[in-house]
Amino acid sequence: MPQVTIEAVEPVGDRTAALELRTPDGFDAEPGQFLLVRATVDGVEETGYYTISSPDTDGTMEVTVEYVPEGTLAPWLADRESGDTVEIEGPFGDVRYTGEGAAVVLAEGPGIGPAVGIAERARESGHDATVVFWGQDPPHRDRLDALEADGATVLLVESLDEATETLAAAEDATVYVFGFESFVRDAKTVAEAVGVVDVRAESFGSR
Ligand SMILES: Cc1cc2nc3c(=O)[nH]c(=O)nc-3n(C[C@H](O)[C@H](O)[C@H](O)COP(=O)(O)OP(=O)(O)OC[C@H]3O[C@@H](n4cnc5c(N)ncnc54)[C@H](O)[C@@H]3O)c2cc1C
Repeated sequence: MPQVTIEAVEPVGDRTAALELRTPDGFDAEPGQFLLVRATVDGVEETGYYTISSPDTDGTMEVTVEYVPEGTLAPWLADRESGDTVEIEGPFGDVRYTGEGAAVVLAEGPGIGPAVGIAERARESGHDATVVFWGQDPPHRDRLDALEADGATVLLVESLDEATETLAAAEDATVYVFGFESFVRDAKTVAEAVGVVDVRAESFGSR
């Protein structure tokens, strides 16, 4: 599987970094799909899944990595430099946005990555975009501000119940959910309670 060059690593929030990767020839993916990233950390081969957080993969593509100091692969990735390489496989996952129709994305933690990627793709394609982030201090604040300036809706919520009106009003939109297991479960419950039948959710596993 291809070794890809890391073009840039940028802190984008609390314990969160965005890695810009050079897209291998012939590789194509959509925001919401994920890559398997493999690297040798302290002599041990480690793997993790990271979700595409750029609106497309033309030339370069981005993943957004949240790390804890006691983690293995994620802090190592956040510590890379331009010109380093990692091995990838993929893309994986059926949850993806291809630029068709309005999108509402519910996200927590590093789930904000695919949320901004999808919202940017939606706006570029002339569609409405809404990002609901659980928490008050989202990573990718600059891109969220730019999305708002471009007409997208960005809601920072303490509780997902605050998103019910937005979900109920977004009848023609596709609803996406990205985050860790308990958030995905809660977000699906809230969306289904207001009548959303088709929730496209990708769980990042348990924390
Ligand atoms: C389909 C899928 C898509 C994913 N997409 C992303 C993504 O886009 N961005 C992303 O950052 N992660 C994503 N993940 C999670 C990612 O694959 C790793 O599980 C995560 O980065 C942990 O890596 P680690 O090896 O550093 O930590 P580990 O060595 O696996 O964990 C060490 C300890 O730290 C805890 N821990 C690790 N990370 C966190 C955290 N962020 N918050 C709280 N506790 C933590 C673990 O539970 C464990 O106790 C995704 C997972 C899946 C299954």
